[in-house]
Amino acid sequence: MTKWVYSFGDGTADGRADMRNLLGGKGANLAEMSSLGLPVPAGFTITTEVCTAYYDNDRRYPDELAGQVDTALAQIETLVGVKFGDPQNPLLVSVRSGARASMPGMMDTVLNLGLNDETVRGLAAASGDERFAYDSYRRFIQMFGDVVLEVDHHHFEDILELHKEDRGHAMDTDLDADDWRKVIEGFKAKIVEETGEPFPQNPKDQLWAAISAVFGSWMNQRAITYRRLNAIPAAWGTAVNIQAMVFGNMGDDCATGVAFTRDPSTGENIFYGEYLVNAQGEDVVAGIRTPQHLTIQGKNANGSDLPAMEEVMPEVFGQLNDVRLRLEKHYRDIQDIEFTVQRGKLYMLQTRSGKRTAPAALKIAVDFVNEGLITEAEAITRVDPAALDQLLHPTLDPDAPRHILTRGLPASPGAASGKIVFSADAAEKQAAAGEAVILCRIETSPDDIHGMHAAQGILTTRGGMTSHAAVVARGMGRACVAGAGELRIDYKERILRARNEELREGDLITIDGGSGEVMKGEVPTIQPELSGDFGVLMGWADSIRQMRVRTNADTPNDCRTARYFGAEGIGLCRTEHMFFDAERIIAVREMILADNEAERRAALAKILPMQRQDFIEIFEIMEGLPITIRLLDPPLHEFLPHGEAELEEFAEASNAPLELVRSRAGKLSENNPMLGHRGCRLGISYPEIYEMQARAIFEATAAVAKEHGNTVEPEVMIPLVAMKKEIEILKALVDRVAREVMTSEGIEIKYLVGTMIELPRAALLASEIAEEAEFFSFGTNDLTQTTFGLSRDDAGNFLGTYEQRGIIEQDPFISLDHSGVGELVSIAVERGKAQRPDIKLGICGEHGGDPASIDFCQKVGLDYVSCSPYRVPIARLAAAQAALTTQKT
Ligand code: ADP
Ligand code: MG
Ligand code: MG
Repeated sequence: MTKWVYSFGDGTADGRADMRNLLGGKGANLAEMSSLGLPVPAGFTITTEVCTAYYDNDRRYPDELAGQVDTALAQIETLVGVKFGDPQNPLLVSVRSGARASMPGMMDTVLNLGLNDETVRGLAAASGDERFAYDSYRRFIQMFGDVVLEVDHHHFEDILELHKEDRGHAMDTDLDADDWRKVIEGFKAKIVEETGEPFPQNPKDQLWAAISAVFGSWMNQRAITYRRLNAIPAAWGTAVNIQAMVFGNMGDDCATGVAFTRDPSTGENIFYGEYLVNAQGEDVVAGIRTPQHLTIQGKNANGSDLPAMEEVMPEVFGQLNDVRLRLEKHYRDIQDIEFTVQRGKLYMLQTRSGKRTAPAALKIAVDFVNEGLITEAEAITRVDPAALDQLLHPTLDPDAPRHILTRGLPASPGAASGKIVFSADAAEKQAAAGEAVILCRIETSPDDIHGMHAAQGILTTRGGMTSHAAVVARGMGRACVAGAGELRIDYKERILRARNEELREGDLITIDGGSGEVMKGEVPTIQPELSGDFGVLMGWADSIRQMRVRTNADTPNDCRTARYFGAEGIGLCRTEHMFFDAERIIAVREMILADNEAERRAALAKILPMQRQDFIEIFEIMEGLPITIRLLDPPLHEFLPHGEAELEEFAEASNAPLELVRSRAGKLSENNPMLGHRGCRLGISYPEIYEMQARAIFEATAAVAKEHGNTVEPEVMIPLVAMKKEIEILKALVDRVAREVMTSEGIEIKYLVGTMIELPRAALLASEIAEEAEFFSFGTNDLTQTTFGLSRDDAGNFLGTYEQRGIIEQDPFISLDHSGVGELVSIAVERGKAQRPDIKLGICGEHGGDPASIDFCQKVGLDYVSCSPYRVPIARLAAAQAALTTQKT
């Protein structure tokens, strides 16, 4: 016979904490607390399997269920010593839903079930408190009416309000037994009016109606929506808990409350909670009365003048504090608990793992290790790497007032204040003059990089989470709010229009890239703290992880930030950002517009020393660490002037006829630049560009070696390779330049030449390509674009719909598509390794900073991940977690 019902109470239980799939979270923990000998009112749990069976069988219960419920109920009666439905002294129960995961949208709890017109008199007599009995009955009718009979709760509230007005009562506590009797009559009449049936008087009918209401609520719209949004399968089902009532509303030696075993917002080891004297159920959270603090410390800290539980009921408080310590020891985690005190006796009604803020998670994890409750490895699994983001960026002072203009997408975390500027050049100029600025654009483009870099934050009115602004801002660690569609930017008038306000260039605004809020004026921020618990946990993560963590960095500044955050090298140094620099762009454009190789070489000769100097600076900062440098990747027209004014300006500066400039620019434009003349295709067409870059790299290496000893090992990366021939030709070129530099400098340089795997063909032909390539770096941004045939810049228009309709689970540009793109990665790893067993393998797409993708990288055996500087700590922690889960499986 299947066991459908699990009992608990009196120091034992059929169930355990690890049976939450079967008993739901609440039921499993009630069982566990009971087994621990904690004071849990007796009860039983109807399993989630009943829920599943119920829906599989046309909403019919398994045959044995009724008998098992009767037996379990009888067991409660024996333990409590009163009988369900007994007119003299009735057993009352609560009916509580409880799924595996806590689920708002499920049926609310019904308390005091078993009361009717007759048993209420018995309860009054047995308790010696008429008021209490009738207050309990009206609460029961109200809850049962609302959640089981679906009579809207406002009906009951209206009746109660009217009665209070009639009688001149301000508070519920002013009502006496007679008042409650009258209210009850009103409630019952309303139920007849609304449902056509009298309020059910038979306690057994009440019980089954409530049980069916819990199971029924599993399929209500609210619950279905919540499950969809949180990816909870319908097949999980909910459990139902039936438990003997204890009463916090029997007088002034009674109370009910909720608490956390530690402070969930700071993690501090102090008891943190609230209670109410003479109250029941969720009165504490319902906001009807002002709750009181548990501890004197809490009361003082919050400036409350209501007495603390510690003062009012010191003895029970002492017991509760003992329970707190036992629960933490037992569960080895912070707990969120619910309790009731009935006539001076403490009862535990719930415990579960407590939700906490990121700083609290960190502190609790480290403290628990120091207290000997968990191991360092466990501590690592306790902190959500993504939550670290909150800790790494300045955040808005929560106490400061905010004048919110609008809300956009939280595209890149961090808070920033500054003066409004509308162009990248203005941003750069003002920043150079020491001003903090927020770059406000309709959209951003690669031309704006210098301004984005100079700005404290970026605000756009168009574009999604993977728009240029969002991706670049995340990479740079700049705060960014993207797609704030309610705002209008007028570049000509230099005005930012919000709904009822106009802001001008130079006005102060604040953006919060973590929430998407855009605020007028300056809101003070708080700086992140990387020492203390953060440093300790990171140290543990570093000792456990197997993959290295590098950074994607193009500037000395990014390199310094990344090293500060613990980067172990550069996985992607893009050389094109260096080309956009205001001083160089002219030379770069001359190179691009050159008519022939000789002119091109002349222009390149101007760029060479600048590029070499860039590398020298980066190599010095990254001393001793590996550095992957990608040769020029974007199509050349990205560097050309846009618009007439800029064209003219350029023609003049470079002493070229405007017509010629215009026609050359026109020739370079492409219909589909992403798949056009870019990457190694440029190197094949214009070998002198790659030659100059290789020379800059090796000369910089030689310079740094001479100055500091031979420390850097450059890894030259050829982008967008699809065919072996491409890398064969370009590797020969790089090798030749390397030899030339080594000869002329008289120095031996260790270096590698490899490729980015960012085209499906390259992944499939990894074996061939690995004959040439000494390393692979998975460029999963482009690999995702080319595998899905999906442009990252345009996907924002429809990916949202795809997510809503369940066609894709997640934006594949944020979290690696394991089954498709991931399959190509693992094919390339396998084939690459078979060809060249010591091939170096890494990832340098945005995914390198995404915990789920990092886990995947560990599983396929990559040597390192590379991500933007601000994500380095996240990647370190995620890599440690990945190493731990891989160990287990
Ligand atoms: P939720 O999942 O919304 O927290 P619960 O099932 O925990 O719902 O019930 C809410 C509150 O009802 C509890 O915190 C507790 O105060 C009260 N409650 C539930 N069962 C009992 C009981 N058997 N005796 C007394 N109070 C109860
Ligand atoms: Mg609730
Ligand atoms: Mg609860």
